[in-house]
Amino acid sequence: MDTVEKKKVTGKTEETLKAWNRIDAEYYCSTGSEGFNGIAAEKKNRTEPKEGRSGAEKTATGRSAALILAAGRSSRMQAEIPKQFLLYRERPLFLWSVEKYRRIVDLTVVVTGEADVEKTKDCLASFGMDDVPVIPGGEERYDSSFRGLLYLEEKGGFDTVMIHDAARAFVTEEIIGSALESARNQGTAVAAVPLKDTVKRADEKGLVLDTPDRSSLYLIQTPQAFSLELILACYRRFFAEKEKHPALSVTDDASVVEQFSDHPVQLTPGSYDNIKITTPDDLKWLRE
Ligand code: C5P
Repeated sequence: MDTVEKKKVTGKTEETLKAWNRIDAEYYCSTGSEGFNGIAAEKKNRTEPKEGRSGAEKTATGRSAALILAAGRSSRMQAEIPKQFLLYRERPLFLWSVEKYRRIVDLTVVVTGEADVEKTKDCLASFGMDDVPVIPGGEERYDSSFRGLLYLEEKGGFDTVMIHDAARAFVTEEIIGSALESARNQGTAVAAVPLKDTVKRADEKGLVLDTPDRSSLYLIQTPQAFSLELILACYRRFFAEKEKHPALSVTDDASVVEQFSDHPVQLTPGSYDNIKITTPDDLKWLRE
């Protein structure tokens, strides 16, 4: 039996959210029988999952690292704590990704908000993962990515980097494995799924402009994986350009490679279940 009673979401309100998650730092890091440490103590008695199930075992063909981006403020979630700390099956969302990447890459790094670094370290330690470095992210997602990349560069010895949204807790080892293989062979990988619905472009009044051919349209997810050298060079060009044009922005890492290099960007298999918990509506995915 898990030591923490499961909470049920019965509505979408902020109050329900708070009650369900018991949103407070004390809960996460308390030393009693409740909270992380209580759960962690129980976890230690469980059998660890087998490594490398997806065939993407750690190999000697170049060292790989993963950046788990967890520094967002989750303004669209309207909750008091960032979505990456919401609980799913008694663990904060970001831990699910950390555990999967740790089985596949050589080093997994968590990038979190400056104010959350210590809490995140404590949480990881509670689950026996105190070897996972935690570093502060930045204002925008691309700042957090770049800080993580600079950390890896300074550490040295990594050829391939995988960048993952902590809010995509349902990523699988198969998805991670495919992306890692592509990045190692071709320098890039972007997890994606084909669009199932018809797409229309419309003007601000809602009047349809046209219906693009969906056969060439994809929904883009993470992981996105790259040669570390390539993505660092592209990010440096991006920030140099941003000095001249401050409004310049990107919403994913692959866009930086697309815009600041001629390197082809390879799509790899994602999954319709590899969703990003973004708005209160998405919390239904965390219910049991
Ligand atoms: O805001 P969005 O849903 O695009 O965030 C995707 C991921 O990037 C989330 O896991 C979030 O924590 C992370 N992020 C970050 N630093 C930011 C903004 C977002 O690490 N400044």
